[in-house]
Amino acid sequence: MNRERHDGVLVVGAGLAGLSAALEAARAGARVRVVTPEPLLSGCSSAWAQGGMAAALTATDSAALHARDTEAAGAGLVESEAARALTDQGRETVEWLAALGAPFDRDPEGGFVVSLEAAHSVPRVARVGGDGAGRAILSAVVTAVRAEKAIEVWEDARLTGLLQDETGRVVGAALARGGRRVEIVARAVVLATGGAGGLYAATTTPGALKGEGMALAALAGAEILDPEFVQFHPTAMDVGLDPAPLATEALRGEGARLIDGAGRHLLGEAADADLKPRDVVARAVHAARMEGRGAFLDARTAVGEALPHEFPAVFAACLRSGLDPRVSPIPVLPACHYHMGGIAADVDGRTSLAGLYAVGECAATGVHGANRLASNSLLEAAAFGRNAGRAAAGETGGGRPRPAPRLGDLPDAALAQLRAAMTDHVGVIRDAAGLSGVLALIDRLEAENGPAPPLIAARLIVQAALERRESRGGHYRSDYPETAAEARRTRVRLPQPEMVAAE
Ligand SMILES: Cc1cc2nc3c(=O)[nH]c(=O)nc-3n(C[C@H](O)[C@H](O)[C@H](O)COP(=O)(O)OP(=O)(O)OC[C@H]3O[C@@H](n4cnc5c(N)ncnc54)[C@H](O)[C@@H]3O)c2cc1C
Repeated sequence: MNRERHDGVLVVGAGLAGLSAALEAARAGARVRVVTPEPLLSGCSSAWAQGGMAAALTATDSAALHARDTEAAGAGLVESEAARALTDQGRETVEWLAALGAPFDRDPEGGFVVSLEAAHSVPRVARVGGDGAGRAILSAVVTAVRAEKAIEVWEDARLTGLLQDETGRVVGAALARGGRRVEIVARAVVLATGGAGGLYAATTTPGALKGEGMALAALAGAEILDPEFVQFHPTAMDVGLDPAPLATEALRGEGARLIDGAGRHLLGEAADADLKPRDVVARAVHAARMEGRGAFLDARTAVGEALPHEFPAVFAACLRSGLDPRVSPIPVLPACHYHMGGIAADVDGRTSLAGLYAVGECAATGVHGANRLASNSLLEAAAFGRNAGRAAAGETGGGRPRPAPRLGDLPDAALAQLRAAMTDHVGVIRDAAGLSGVLALIDRLEAENGPAPPLIAARLIVQAALERRESRGGHYRSDYPETAAEARRTRVRLPQPEMVAAE
C-alpha cells in the first residue's frame, strides 16, 4: 500500500460537477488533485447530455419562475431554498461556462438561444447546436482544467474507500490505481462520482457509474437522502446496445410521436400528449411493452430528413444498430437515467461528515425532489460544483487516518444478476414482492462476494423503495398507487461498526 499526502483538495470524479469544483478550488488558491478511472470526457454522463442547461436567460423568464417549475416537477419533495439558490445562479453559471469557451447557441443580438422542454413553463434550455450539448460544454471545462497549473489529474484511479480520523472527519481517500491500493491524505475530499445507472440493465448512463461514491460515503457514516428516487427516461432506444442510446425528449418537442406496433398513439391523440411528465410517459411505454404491443418513437414525419443534422447523436446511434429513423420508427424502452437521491449535501456541497463534500448527481441537495426537472442537472453540477470548490479550498484538514475497511469488487456475473433484477423490480413499476426479492438477491450476492460498493448502493435504493409505501414522482408502487398527503423525506445512516483494522 502507498500512502501520500496531498496538501490541498482531492476531487473524485471528472464530470461537470467534479471539474467545476476543481477549477473553482484552484482559483480560490488551493492545490487540487482530480482522480477518475477513465480519460477525461469518457465514462461520465456529463459528456453524454444532449439537450442543454436550464437557466432563466430571457426577458419572459425569471429565477423565481424557474424555481417554481422545479418545485412543481419535484412532487412535494423539493427543498425550496436549494431550488432558489440553484435558479439564482443560472445565468451566472451559463455565462461562466460561455466565458470558458462553451459554444452555446446565440441569437443575432448575442443572447442565448433557449428551447422548451417538458414541464418548463417557458423556453429556458440553453442549447449547443444539435444534440451534443454535454460534450461541448465539458470540453471547454476540460481545456480550462488542463491549462490550470494548480490542478493535477489522474485518469486511472478509482475510489475504493474514504479515510477518516478518530473524530470521523474525512481526511482522504483510498484508490485503486494500476492494480495497487493508494491512499491520499488531503485537506478535503469532494465526491463527484455521478449517478447509479450502471446498477440497472437498462440504462442511458455510462455503465461504470454504479453509485459507488454514495455507497462509500454511506459506509463512512454520511447521511443519504431519498435514495429510492430514480428517474427513468421513457425513450431509451431498444436496439440491443448497453448502455441504451438516448432518443432525446427534444424529438417529442419537435412533434415525434410515441406509438405501438399497430401505429396507435400510446398517450392519446392530443398534439402535446407525449410531453407529459417523464414518469407518466415512462409508465405508458412500460405498459405497452408488457402488453406485447411494443413501443416506438416515430420521428419520420415530424423530423424526417432533418434528423442527421438536427439530432446527429440520435441518428448515428440508430445507424449503428442498422436502423434508419427517417424510414422506421425507433423501438424504445424506459431506462434508468438519473438519480435524484444521494449523499445529503447543502448547496455548497457540505455533507454530514466534516471534510467531505458531495456535488452533482451523487449528491442530493433537495433541488430535484422526487422528480428532476429536465436540464436542471447540468446546471446543478456546474453551479453547486463551483460553490463546493470554493468552500473546500478553505478546509485545513484533520488528524491521522484510521485504518480503512477494504471492500472487494463485484464479479461481472454477479453484477449482471443485480442489474437485471434492478430493472425488472426496482424500475418504473415497483411492488413489495419484487423489492423483497431483490433484497434477498443482494443478501445472497453479498454472502458470496462480500459487501462490494454496487451492492451497498443497490441496497440503499431498494430498502428505501420498499419502505416508501406510496407513489410519488419517479417512485411508483403498484401496491400503493396513491400519493401520501404528507411529503416525507427518507434519511438513511448506516450503522457505524468499529473500523476494521486492515494492516
Ligand atoms: C444520455 C444522457 C443525456 C442527458 N441529458 C441531459 C441534459 O440535456 N441536460 C441536463 O441537465 N442533464 C442531462 N443529463 C444528466 C446529466 O448529464 C448528469 O446528471 C450530469 O452530467 C452529472 O454530472 P456529474 O459530474 O455529477 O457526473 P458525471 O458526469 O456522470 O461524472 C461522474 C464522474 O465520476 C467518476 N466516477 C464514478 N465512480 C467513480 C469511482 N468509484 N472512483 C472515481 N471516479 C468515479 C466517473 O468516471 C466520472 O468521471 C443526461 C444524462 C444522460 C445519461
